[in-house]
Amino acid sequence: MKLDESYELFRETCTRFAREKIAPFVAEWEEAGIFPRELYREAAAAGVLNAAYPEEYGGGGGDMLHGLVGIEALLSGGSSGIVAGLGSLGIALPPILVLGSEEQKRRFLPPVLAGDKIAALAITEPGTGSDVSGISTRAVRDGKDYLVSGAKMFITSGVRADYVSVLARTGPDKHGGLSFFVVEKGMPGFSVSRALKKTGWWASDTAELAFDSVRVPEENRIGDEGSGFVALMRNFQHERLALAFYGHATAALVLEDALAYARERQAFGRPLVGFQVTRHKLARMATEVEAARTLNYSTALRVKAGEYLVKEVSMAKNFSADVAQRVCYEAVQILGGMGFMRETRVERLSRDARLLPIGGGTTEIMNEIIAKGLGL
Ligand SMILES: Cc1cc2nc3c(=O)[nH]c(=O)nc-3n(C[C@H](O)[C@H](O)[C@H](O)COP(=O)(O)OP(=O)(O)OC[C@H]3O[C@@H](n4cnc5c(N)ncnc54)[C@H](O)[C@@H]3O)c2cc1C
Repeated sequence: MKLDESYELFRETCTRFAREKIAPFVAEWEEAGIFPRELYREAAAAGVLNAAYPEEYGGGGGDMLHGLVGIEALLSGGSSGIVAGLGSLGIALPPILVLGSEEQKRRFLPPVLAGDKIAALAITEPGTGSDVSGISTRAVRDGKDYLVSGAKMFITSGVRADYVSVLARTGPDKHGGLSFFVVEKGMPGFSVSRALKKTGWWASDTAELAFDSVRVPEENRIGDEGSGFVALMRNFQHERLALAFYGHATAALVLEDALAYARERQAFGRPLVGFQVTRHKLARMATEVEAARTLNYSTALRVKAGEYLVKEVSMAKNFSADVAQRVCYEAVQILGGMGFMRETRVERLSRDARLLPIGGGTTEIMNEIIAKGLGL
């Protein structure tokens, strides 16, 4: 899909970054379960990390569509985990941008956008994920400070994050009693309980975090007390659209690999594409990729134009996540044994894709939202 020049130039920049700075090292970083911290600085210097943020805080002055195009292009490096790890600022910073004071924006955003500090978003807990209003991490007033206690689960970039945007309970009201705080690495009582091992996204660090009466100054509360839930719902909109883009981009990449393999690989005296069943599989995969990409871009362009599309964003996320599952399954099948080998991009991306119907709101929760949007 061709966009205005600024997006296409940005796409080229990100594709080059993926080719030169990610792809050659993916196998090593995936096995290690982490990528070098330096990559954040390199991505910032290349204008890849910070394009979608205002210039006054060190961003590139672009918009949300730059962020989505960036995800699509960076995935060509062959690891969703690296894109997710580099991109954790994309879910961690918006609450600060939307709710934060000018002083807070000037304090927290520039070091992250320069790649010097790492930001993470901490909503999910060991006891609750989909039911956000059920969170039990609490922030209790103590003079000019808050004491934050509880635990957070599955936090992307959580192991090495310097700033964690934490949603905590400040009052009894299920939705109106939630507030955001920035908890900083090194604050006494804040610790990483464990680094989690996963099916996919290996190169992205994923953590369980513990908060044991962490003294957080009032200056680190983002927005008014009670403003957290509404801000989070807006945040989810962007995260879900981003995951929808992961879906079609992942499917497009494994399709590309399956096409190349099916042209080369010989069986029974002909290439795999010589079998009608393979050609039809590829035709169906290509159709699904096209449908998901078209839905995602049309939704993104409407969001960029100012529409608040809760139902449609949920539809895009679900459809794209489903397409990614089906297309990855068939790509592995076309590669046969090679599709099961760690050395192939198809193997890695098909594992990574399993997260898409779960992260940022599950398929079932998206369907609840869609049904509500239909008046059901
Ligand atoms: C790799 C990875 C990275 C992540 N990164 C982050 C992060 O950076 N920050 C963060 O805060 N979280 C993060 N998450 C958490 C993620 O957003 C949650 O896993 C997700 O929201 C689902 O929550 P849960 O795992 O607690 O599942 P649950 O909420 O326990 O759901 C379990 C099952 O029950 C179903 N279910 C629940 N409620 C309903 C209902 N009302 N109707 C029908 N079915 C229902 C769900 O659809 C699901 O199938 C990450 C997760 C993973 C795996």
